[in-house]
Amino acid sequence: MENQPNSIWVRVWNRVSVQNVSDRLMVVGVLQAECHKCHNPMLEAGARRCPECGTTFSFVAFRKNVQPRDLELYADLTMIDLDDFMKEVSRRKAHNLFEQ
Ligand SMILES: [Zn+2]
Repeated sequence: MENQPNSIWVRVWNRVSVQNVSDRLMVVGVLQAECHKCHNPMLEAGARRCPECGTTFSFVAFRKNVQPRDLELYADLTMIDLDDFMKEVSRRKAHNLFEQ
């Protein structure tokens, strides 16, 4: 979807499986990218697979301001809002603590 004159980037809300996202998420920061599954922080920009655990990424989240080049670099992945996702992960962890 590179610079197509009739398309734009817009954020879309989708219902997702927390487990599915957790298992296939890459988190991109200012200087490095991390595999959410094994927490390997040494992923190269644009990676699609974690060399440590073998995860193939389907989702990407950003721990920085997203630039247009980021959108193009990860256009084949589903981009998710990291705050939305981590709020739910934290809520589930807290709930599980009280269940034990
Ligand atoms: Zn990994």
